[in-house]
Parts: sequence; C-alpha cells; structure tokens
Amino acid sequence: MSRSVFLALLIAAPVSAQSVRSAELIVTNARIYTVDDTRPVVAALAVRDGRIAFAGSAREAMALKGANTKMLDLGGRTVIPGMVDAHAHLLGLGQSLQTVNLVGTKSYDEVIARVVARAKNVPAGQWIIGRGWDQNQWGDTRFPTHDALTRALPNNPVYLERIDGHAQLANAAAMKAASVTVATKDPSGGKILRTASGEPTGVFVDNATELVERSIPRSTPEETRKAIRAAIAESQHWGLTGLHDAGESRATIDLLEEMAKAGEFNFRLYVMISDDSAAVAHYLARGPQSALYDNRLWLRSFKLYADGALGSRGAALLEPYSDDPNNKGLLLSAPAHIQEVAVRALKAGFQVNTHAIGDRGNRVVLDAYDAALKLQPAADHRFRVEHAQILNHDDIPRFAQLGVIPSMQAVHQTSDMYWAGSRLGQGRLLGAYAWRSLLESGVVIPNGSDFPVEAVNPLLSFHSAVARQDAENWPSGGWMPEQRMTREEALKSMTIWPAFAAFQESVMGSLSVGKLADFVVLDRDIMTVADRDILGTNVVATYIGGKPVYERAAQP
Ligand SMILES: [Zn+2]
Repeated sequence: MSRSVFLALLIAAPVSAQSVRSAELIVTNARIYTVDDTRPVVAALAVRDGRIAFAGSAREAMALKGANTKMLDLGGRTVIPGMVDAHAHLLGLGQSLQTVNLVGTKSYDEVIARVVARAKNVPAGQWIIGRGWDQNQWGDTRFPTHDALTRALPNNPVYLERIDGHAQLANAAAMKAASVTVATKDPSGGKILRTASGEPTGVFVDNATELVERSIPRSTPEETRKAIRAAIAESQHWGLTGLHDAGESRATIDLLEEMAKAGEFNFRLYVMISDDSAAVAHYLARGPQSALYDNRLWLRSFKLYADGALGSRGAALLEPYSDDPNNKGLLLSAPAHIQEVAVRALKAGFQVNTHAIGDRGNRVVLDAYDAALKLQPAADHRFRVEHAQILNHDDIPRFAQLGVIPSMQAVHQTSDMYWAGSRLGQGRLLGAYAWRSLLESGVVIPNGSDFPVEAVNPLLSFHSAVARQDAENWPSGGWMPEQRMTREEALKSMTIWPAFAAFQESVMGSLSVGKLADFVVLDRDIMTVADRDILGTNVVATYIGGKPVYERAAQP
C-alpha cells in the first residue's frame, strides 16, 4: 500500500464510519403516526443518540442496522409520538398515590380492609391518610365510629377524609397523637361527634378537623421525592413522556432540579412556577431556563390564578349563575397583578399561564395580557390561559389576535356536562368548552387532564375531544357535537400543540428526524377505531429518548 493511499484511508475511515453510524434501535412492522406533515404515516423508525435518525420504510431503516442495533418488531401495532399532558399537577398526583383511595367503598369493612392492605408497607407509628369514604353508600348509613378501625390498626395513626372533605375519621392512635380526649371542646364552626358518655367517636366535622390535622407531620424531602418518582412512573404507565406541571413551589422545584441533575428521572417536565412574590423574583433574576439536564426540565413560565372553578360556583362570570342569581363568582387575583407580572415576564423572556374558567375570568386575563403587551411588546410570548372553559362570544377571536394559547382539558367537558347547563344556561353553553370555535379562529389547543382532579390516562381527553361523550358513550351523538375535534387535531393536542405551548417544538411533539425519540406503542389504532373503542386502548410501551420507561407485562 502506498503511503498516500494509506493516509487517504486513515482520513476517510472516520468520515465514512460517521455517515453510516448505526442506530441503537430500529422499530419496524408498525403503523407510525409521526404528526409530521411531510410524512404523516410511516412503517419504521431508527433511533440514534436518543433522537429520531430516520422515519420511513423498513427497507431504508435497515440500512442503519449495525452489530449492536436493538430490533423492535411491533407486529403491526400503532405508534404515536409521546403524549404530553399540558396541564397537570405532578406532586398532587404523587401525594394522592400515597393516600388510600376510599372512593366507591360499599361498607365500613371495605374501608378498613383497604387501609389494612396499605399498612403492610408502612412502618409502625407512621401516619396513614385516606380519602373518599361516603357512609351514604353503605348498608348502614350512620357515621362510623373509630373502634373497628382502631382494632384493625392499633399501631399507626389513621386519618380518613370523607368524600366531600367536610368530615374526617381518626383512629385511637391518631387522636392520641393529637391529644384529643374526652375533655377536648368543640371549636367554633366545628364538631367532635361523641358517644353517650362524651367520648369522641373518631369523626371530626368541619373546623374540628384542624384538631387532628395539626399533628400530621409535614412530608420530608425524601417523602416528596418518593411521591414525585411515583407520579412520574404512573404518568409513563399511561403513555405520557412529559407534562406541563401547572404550578409548583420553589421548594418542590429545587427538589425536581436536584433529581434531574442526578439523573433520577427520564421524563420531560415543563414546570410552571407558582405565583409567589419571592419565587417570581428569584426565577426572573435567574432568567428563563430551557432543556436543563439533557432535556428533563424547563423553568420559564409562571402560573397565575384569575378565578375559581365552576363546580363550586367560584368561576367569575359576567352575569350571575343561572342557578344562583345573586352570585357571579369571584376573582382570585387583582387584574392589575396579572398585568404587572405579565410585564415583568415579557421583559425577562418568561411565559405567563393564568387559570381562568368563567367568562369574566377569561376576559380579565385577556385584558391584562393585552395591556401588558402594549406596554412591553413581544413577538413570540405564547402566553396561555389555563382552562379557557367558558368564553363570551366576543372574546373567542381575541386569543388569536393576541397570540394567546387556550390550554384546555377536554375531559373536563365530559365531567361537567351533566350540570354545566344548570350553572350557565343554554346561551352561555355556546361558548363553553368551545374548541372547534377556537381552532377555527386560528389558535392551537394543548390538551390535558388537570390530574389528580381527573384520571391520568390521556386517552380520556383524546376521547372527549373527538366524541364529546362519557365513557358510557353518553350522550349519543355527543354533547354539543359541533365543537368536536378531528382525530388528527386531537392527536396534535396531545403532542405537537403542547410542545408549541412550551417552546419545545424543535425537540418534541412529532417523530421527525432530529427530535427526541419519545414515542408510545398502543394495542389499538386510535386514529381509526370507532369512538366507543378508543378507551379500550392499552399502552404497550412508552419510550423516552429511545429507551423504554414502561413496558406492559405480557397478557395471558
Ligand atoms: Zn390545575
């Protein structure tokens, strides 16, 4: 070999190795919805360095196969980009997973059995919290007394919340820890239920619950980490590869940041910073943070509140509630405060996401954003209204005009439809959960669940978006069906539209070459099955950065 040829080989070798560097994973035999308009459906994917290296035919994908390439033959299953919940509460989910779910219990014995099952994994002395009992659903509809609970659980303080949150049941260990005795007096606005001899029965009503609650220890950082890990695992189980966390405190964000830095989770968290003046000042001074710790954490938005919720008549309305003529709901923040935070955010390059449910709440937010943008114009602010549930007709086009994104949770429509009409009356329903009207005005709608308010499964909101029916397919034809999304829109509302609403569309939201290899394998084709079959779909596997984070056990 001549010296010059040898040199040429030396130089050429790394270059050619580069050009055919093999994939770490090749997915074949699948129906892959890419949410990339240039190639909407493909049969194969190749992943390299945690990103999509190729999307197209199996034959072309195989050109990237090397000695160490893992092959994944999906047997004709469906693949979609990783789903992202654009409005959820991560720590809230983690905490609810740590409490014993008592919803649907049919007897006091069943309540005790569920608590005993949980107690197996809890050291003696540690509190056990439960939620959701309702004695009206039991054979004996009288309030329970603590005795049976105390006999079954003598070694742990147990504290169980009634479904409406207005009563609590404590066992003897909990009352002892709280120093509640026969001598404890009822506080004003509260009641300790008692036996004929005056002994507390264990049931505490309204303000009396504080007598026990103040003795429940606050979570340690390690318990909070555990809750966060559980919430991420639960999310991945349902096909979520990331979420927009709708408001966390600085203490929680510090923990998330430590965990992300240590590589403790493989998940994409777009965290909204809760509206607390010290936290707002801290993060503004630090400046917007994107894709921290290898695309795990984003800190560049604030979560504000304009009003309350519709169910409790706290949503701020322009006209009184149809079923409460002296009540228009209430504003939780002064409009001037929303405007002031918005101006500071615009100056520093942050996003503002404000909770607004009622038509007055929404108008107040749009007015505040409008005024802020006049004071501090910004071309690409992507300010959001979280929920945007009930809109006055005149305000619908203002979202597109101002560049404001309505971040909506389709499943709220199917949860609220049974009673929303009595709160609002027929006229206002025309602007409620009005995603078709909004889409036609020229905006995108990131979809979400607001979990743990609703269940984690993102396909519930996908189904609500396209069918506007509940899980029992009621009402037939859908509730105000003219507002339905198409399947393509609903898929975008869980993938590319959340990515856009979080400034992540260059790395997430579609299975396009160069983006992060986040995808979900489903056992049904949610783009073609009948509406009634969508909710029977199972997540077979969830991949983040080309790595499986959840795989369903083989079914018998
Ligand atoms: Zn929320």
